[in-house]
Amino acid sequence: MMSEEIIKEMKERVYRANLRLSEEKLIKLTWGNVSEINRELCIIVIKPSGVSYEEMSADKMVVTDLRGQPIGDQMKPSSDMMTHAHLYESFPKIGSIVHTHSEHAVMWAQAGKDIPAYGTTHADHFFGDVPCARELTTEEISGEYERNTGHVIVECILERGIDYEAVPAILVKSHGPFTWGSTTEKAVDNAVVLDVVAKMAMGTEYISKSSLTKKIPQYLLDKHYLRKHGKNAYYGQ
Ligand SMILES: [Zn+2]
Repeated sequence: MMSEEIIKEMKERVYRANLRLSEEKLIKLTWGNVSEINRELCIIVIKPSGVSYEEMSADKMVVTDLRGQPIGDQMKPSSDMMTHAHLYESFPKIGSIVHTHSEHAVMWAQAGKDIPAYGTTHADHFFGDVPCARELTTEEISGEYERNTGHVIVECILERGIDYEAVPAILVKSHGPFTWGSTTEKAVDNAVVLDVVAKMAMGTEYISKSSLTKKIPQYLLDKHYLRKHGKNAYYGQ
């Protein structure tokens, strides 16, 4: 296949994956971004920065080199471009990266907590807790912020000895999730599942902590059930 054709297909996949983030209700406005790498052609395709989903089209997807620099005259790539570029450089087996501000994953990121593996829904997709990386320092934020976000992600995964293919997701503290996969479809699937397990984990902790909540008194339960049901019911006409 000619490289122009490969690039055209990459743009189409990246475009559709970005639309899917919106359809799956993982993002609002233009908050998320998806990218895909082709390591033979040494290119990354990513969503343009700040373009609404109505204005977006496959041909507006931005092609960059592996350092995240747009090749030729194109729109500006997503502001998170350098985070993506750093992750591709550090994780040689990933083919696509997704960043969202999906609400439940962001809640864990804002709390600065790993998402614990509480059940099989989690275990089917993530081989252990989904880690929350450390906060960036003021120097890291005032410097190359987006690249340093990538550094902090990689540092967390290496320090904790996590297999990035077995746990294809991370939370950036006070910010939100990044997920990845061998293909664009898998990277988006991981973003979808991550938000579901984040929500389930919240509910699990909440229910566990609220087990002492008092039940309705028996006399009130009887009153309400029996006035509608059974031989002495009197509710209604
Ligand atoms: Zn973000």
